[in-house]
Amino acid sequence: DFSTEYFTMNEEQAIEYAKEKLDFFKQDAELTCKEIGDGNLNYVFHIVDGKYGDSIILKQAGPVARISDEFKLSPDRNRIESDILKIQYEYVPDHTPKTYQYDPVMNCFAMEDLSDYEIMRSALIKHEIFPDFADHITTFMAKTLLLTSDVVMDHKKKKDLVKSFINPELCEISEDLVYTEPFYNCERNEVFPATRPFVEKEIWADDVLRLETAKLKFEFMTNAQSLIHGDLHTGSVFIKQGATKVIDPEFAFYGPAGYDIGNVVANLIFAYANGQATIKEEAKRNEFTSYILQSIEDVIDLFKQKFGKLWNETDMELVATYDGFYEYYLNNILKDTAAVAGLELSRRIIGLAKVADITSIEDESDRQQAEENCLTVAKYFILERGQYKTGADFVSLVKKVF
Ligand code: ADP
Ligand code: MG
Ligand code: MG
Ligand code: MG
Repeated sequence: DFSTEYFTMNEEQAIEYAKEKLDFFKQDAELTCKEIGDGNLNYVFHIVDGKYGDSIILKQAGPVARISDEFKLSPDRNRIESDILKIQYEYVPDHTPKTYQYDPVMNCFAMEDLSDYEIMRSALIKHEIFPDFADHITTFMAKTLLLTSDVVMDHKKKKDLVKSFINPELCEISEDLVYTEPFYNCERNEVFPATRPFVEKEIWADDVLRLETAKLKFEFMTNAQSLIHGDLHTGSVFIKQGATKVIDPEFAFYGPAGYDIGNVVANLIFAYANGQATIKEEAKRNEFTSYILQSIEDVIDLFKQKFGKLWNETDMELVATYDGFYEYYLNNILKDTAAVAGLELSRRIIGLAKVADITSIEDESDRQQAEENCLTVAKYFILERGQYKTGADFVSLVKKVF
């Protein structure tokens, strides 16, 4: 019985659920199911009809985060994810999976099966190149970040959205894991032993840096600027040649627009670090690392270009049309972008949630070098966050350090 009380489904139950609850498969479908989740928080069921070839994804929120028993997460995050996917689909249908039914009892929703795409992080670790990524992701970010903001939205409607996307538990995870724990010797951190002396000296003993992270944490908690994705790393991007879809927005809430852009930039830098450390053949290495640098540059410059164009095409809040306001607003986004790139670079090296781009570097000293380079870039981004205004500014720091 799926209608009275929440329980976590197994594969057989997911098939039953699909037959009973989803208005999707044909009557005489022959369904099989596999749980394909790779995350820590949720179950992802891939349900296929062997007879007619239809398929769907059912994502169910688990009751307790698998990452650690300390995180008790409300399954309401599944509503948040399903609701924001509808909003994102409205603004950027090309880059958002289509969703079907949401079920508040079972805390699950159905969405388009994207099995013909690949998770971008896995593809980048194989050093695949996707020339359209920067174009696609900047379309996604310019639209979702500007069109949900007070600059264009009716203020009361925007405040209703803020209310409906209050996401205290997942925000607390980010507050702890991104903004707090990496910057002191927290026992939950997992520092690669070879990198530990660098972390102790350059991060934990740097009071100037720590003060800046404290300021940034309070900005993250109080700046309800845009309805952000909140977890926009390359593991939340499904990609194939010519097409990009952004998934997994369960961390969504009203926060600083630069948070999403900074996450994209940092995760491209992890791919760069991986390519530099692991591609032995010089021509191949240069091709891949140049592609990554170009993508970083384009993410910034195309975002600015599309954001500016959309700004000019859209009806604005009156005061937002004052001379100089656009520059002020964009500069704040770029400043947050640099800062968050620095925070993400730090927390994935020091904190407990790692990225495979780095952990898959087998040689110990190569990995140490990659980690120290990421942390060095991170410090510049955080401490000098007002100074990165063009794609070239971001790229030249990476080139200088690596
Ligand atoms: P989590 O919140 O647990 O990280 P994700 O939404 O990132 O869950 O999904 C976990 C994995 O499930 C993805 O990495 C991907 O392999 C698979 N997956 C998720 N959504 C889809 C989809 N729409 N189509 C195909 N596979 C999917
Ligand atoms: Mg995951
Ligand atoms: Mg995920
Ligand atoms: Mg997730």
